[in-house]
This record gives sequence, structure tokens and C-alpha cells, in this order.
Amino acid sequence: MRVDAPSVLLIYTGGTIGMIENPETGALENFNFDHLLKHVPELKRFNYRISSYQFNPPLDSSDMEPVYWAKLVKIINYNYDDFDGFVILHGTDTMAYTASALSFMLENLSKPVILTGSQLPIGTLRTDGKENLITAIEIAAAKHPDGTAIVPEVCIFFENHLMRGNRTTKINAENFNAFRSFNYPPLARVGIHIKYEPNLIRKPDPNKPLKPHYLFDTNVVILTLFPGIQEEIVTSLLHVPGLKAVVLKTFGSGNAPQKEWFIRQLKEATERGIIIVNITQCSSGAVEMERYETGMHLLEAGVISGYDSTPECAITKLMFLLGHELPNKEIRNKMNSCLIGEITKS
Ligand code: ASP
Repeated sequence: MRVDAPSVLLIYTGGTIGMIENPETGALENFNFDHLLKHVPELKRFNYRISSYQFNPPLDSSDMEPVYWAKLVKIINYNYDDFDGFVILHGTDTMAYTASALSFMLENLSKPVILTGSQLPIGTLRTDGKENLITAIEIAAAKHPDGTAIVPEVCIFFENHLMRGNRTTKINAENFNAFRSFNYPPLARVGIHIKYEPNLIRKPDPNKPLKPHYLFDTNVVILTLFPGIQEEIVTSLLHVPGLKAVVLKTFGSGNAPQKEWFIRQLKEATERGIIIVNITQCSSGAVEMERYETGMHLLEAGVISGYDSTPECAITKLMFLLGHELPNKEIRNKMNSCLIGEITKS
């Protein structure tokens, strides 16, 4: 191996990709990361220096928590100068939350952090894990002729698309093509070749060093509206002690019931300092509260727009900003600003 061979740190957090079937119960259980390498001998054929780190015990991603996001950031920060890129193997269930959180936590990131996983364990014959892993490693190591990373972003690679992490959502519990970025085009399409989209990829300032962040405040909730939603339920939710922010999943382009009690409850909550962010229940498209009268009422109640944010991104961004104990006004401003490519502001 050349001294200047590309180097990638592989971080295995858990998830299906590293699971094996228990012959007695048929349930999928985590197994040792060494076995993962045994199942992908192809990794040795890369002319790369690949090192690994394993979460012990590995996590089903349903158990993912902000403390593990902080752990990932610590590992990346500690190893930042020694590797060209990072691949995080992660369960698919909450991968979009982790990718969104990391995009805010790794300020001034100038190296690739690529999350991937699989729908079938890597030890099974038809696994999608091998291809996802191998391509993620190739993307994490890819550099321009001047030595800078081609994709200096937190991304999810799955099946045949490289997507900006904080734009991505899991949309299928069965198909190999399980993730989508509805409101931002893929950063690369993968077929015979890996076709990068340089105009869509963020360009970091090379003079700014990585600034890791670790703090989160989880006093937040996601409230999905539906016809028939009860006053008592909305009222109790908005009065939960300690509640600081709500992601309100509204209809269409940001519309909600016009009932007097509903608007009054929201208004009183924003007056108490609770930040309410409006995102749409639709998979694709953005909130435009000025468009219909129903949306205007929300604006008047102090609700702010989440634009075309995914739910995963809106909730992690709120937890991140609240964790840094910024003044309410600054959090509201930042929720309305694009910090790291997470929303489209026209
Ligand atoms: N339950 C698993 C997880 O998210 C599913 C997967 O890996 O795809 O950890």
C-alpha cells in the first residue's frame, strides 16, 4: 500500500448490516464487527487504509440517542486529521435523524461522513449491504486532484443515490431503495460510474477548522395534525412541563384547522416562549403560510415556517439549537435560516 493511500475510518454503530439470524428464534441479532469484515473480503482489495471502530454493544438504531451522536462526533473529531473520510454503518430506522444531527454538530466539516446500512444482513446471499458499504467507502475516499474531498458533507448513501443527510427520509421498510431526498437532488448517482454533481455539493471554507458540537436539549415534540384532533390533547401537550419546541406537521403547504381554540392554544404557547415550527405532512414540497388564510392564522399565532425541512431535520435542528441555550429570538432566526443546506429559501 502506498504511503499516501486514501484512508477511511469505518464506524459500526449497529443495525441490520451487521446482524445475523439466530438459528433458534429466527430473530436478527447483532454480531461481532470482525465477522462483517469476514463477509466482505472485497474490502481488502481496496488500495486504501481502512480502520474500524465498533460500538460495543452495537445498537439497533431504534435505541439511538443524542449521547450516541455525541460519541460519533467525538470519534470523528479525535480521528479527523488521520483519515480522508468516515463511513458510519447504522441501522436504517433512524439513520436520517443521525445524519441530520451530525450535519449540525460537525461545523466546518471538510471531509466526507457517509452513513449507510442495509435492508438485508451482510451475511445473507442477496444482501444489499456489501454494495452499499463498498460504494460508501469509495465515496468517503474520493478526492479532487488538489487533494480536497469531493463530498465534504454528511451524507446518506443507499442503493444508488448519495443524498445530503439532512434532506433524507426513510420511505420504505422493505425495498432496497429505502431512502429519498424529496426536496434536494442527489449529490451523486451511482451506476456503472459514480456521477457526482459538483454544483449541488457544498464547498467548505478550507481555512476554518472543524468545530465539533455536543449539546442537545430534548424537550421537544412532533405533533401531527389530523381531522378531528381534540382540544384536550393539544392543550395538554402544549402544557407539558419543560416543553420548549414543537414541530407541527400541518396539511399541504402549511395549513391547519381554523378553530378558535386551536389558534388560541398555539398563540398562548408561542407567547410562553415555546417555539412552534410548521412543516408539511407531505413528503415533498414546502410550507408557504402566506398562501391560504388557514396558514396566515398560524403566522399570526407566532408559528414559524420550517420551509421544506424533513421532520428528522426540523426536530434535530431544534434540539441542537435549544441545547446551545441561545436566546429564543436567535433560535427562531436560525430555524428560518439555512445553516448547512437543510432547507431551501426562495
Ligand atoms: N432495526 C434496524 C435498525 O434500524 C433496521 C435496519 O438496520 O435497517 O437498527
